[in-house]
Amino acid sequence: MGELITPLRGCLSKMAIEPGASGAPARYTLRAGEHRLDLNARLGQPLRLAHTGAIACTHCGRATRKSFAQGYCYPCFKRLAQCDTCIVRPETCHFHAGTCREPEWGERHCFQPHVVYLANSSGLKVGITRKTQVPTRWLDQGAIQALPILEVDTRQQSGFVEVLFKEQVADRTNWRAMLKGDVAPLDLRAERERLLAALDGGLANLRERFGLDAVRVLDAEPVTLDYPVLEAPTKVVSLNLDKTPEIAGTLLGLKGQYLILDNGVINLRKFTGYEVVFE
Ligand SMILES: [Zn+2]
Repeated sequence: MGELITPLRGCLSKMAIEPGASGAPARYTLRAGEHRLDLNARLGQPLRLAHTGAIACTHCGRATRKSFAQGYCYPCFKRLAQCDTCIVRPETCHFHAGTCREPEWGERHCFQPHVVYLANSSGLKVGITRKTQVPTRWLDQGAIQALPILEVDTRQQSGFVEVLFKEQVADRTNWRAMLKGDVAPLDLRAERERLLAALDGGLANLRERFGLDAVRVLDAEPVTLDYPVLEAPTKVVSLNLDKTPEIAGTLLGLKGQYLILDNGVINLRKFTGYEVVFE
């Protein structure tokens, strides 16, 4: 664990983000190989991020010329259950058909309680996540508010609930708007009431299908999340290590999985597995 040994060199993982204590901005840690670097401490300072050209699969460590699904080599991308399309569209789970790529992984990750939440990242959206991934998932998306509204027993059930909510609410974040930060706060409790009433029939159908207590209404308090941003970008320029292997600028903020520099923004998650030199 090297703290502040710069320049540091290693393969990127997604940044570790923790909620700040009592209303303070979230804490960001850069992870490159075994190195950890407190990014909040670097706000306002120049930084340089250079891709060495090497990419290592985040699962097996094998060198790969191209990264698939944000960090995997091609064999892992084709073989792992976590890279299957049913992870993105859980309602298409095919475990019951005996075709899960990794049934044991599926049992551990998909047959676990999932929550359906409302969040405000660039406006109202619906999302799902494993219960254990709260609040990490919200921080990764740059949400400024979030409210868990329903709990279900499996990932597939959360997918069916999400499909239902998509009739009324977006399920995507407009990342440019999220980074610009001009996002009006929402009354998530009121949105919850409105949506639960509007989708009452659809939720009843799911309970009929999966059992009366399969889709449980949660009575949680909304969470507010704050990010360390000195200056939000007015014009969002996207930086890309594939096109520009060396990125240098002043760190103006951290939001979602993005670094906000004075000359552009970069989604570090997209470059998981990329070996970089950071200074
Ligand atoms: Zn691999």
